[in-house]
Amino acid sequence: MIRDEARFRRHKGACPYYRENWVQGDEKTPQGEILLYEVYCLKGWPPTSTGEQDACMCATRRCWRNNEDHRITPEESAALSASRSA
Ligand code: SF4
Repeated sequence: MIRDEARFRRHKGACPYYRENWVQGDEKTPQGEILLYEVYCLKGWPPTSTGEQDACMCATRRCWRNNEDHRITPEESAALSASRSA
């Protein structure tokens, strides 16, 4: 689970758990490109492609990945996952 930070940016119309951390400076990706921002999912399932990121940007009510309702908080979601794996 990712802890929310005041500096993380939210997007109207996106999943309420989608966050971006805009990076300042000259950090580079492993491919040598300039890093503009990092993407987080507060439930711990970050998008790994632009297609997945687009899906997060449109998922206002449910997670596109596992259909979990957004009314379930990250803490409740983590507890559910732990009880399923026990
Ligand atoms: S993976 Fe699901 S819960 Fe996480 S940011 Fe995307 S839509 Fe939201």
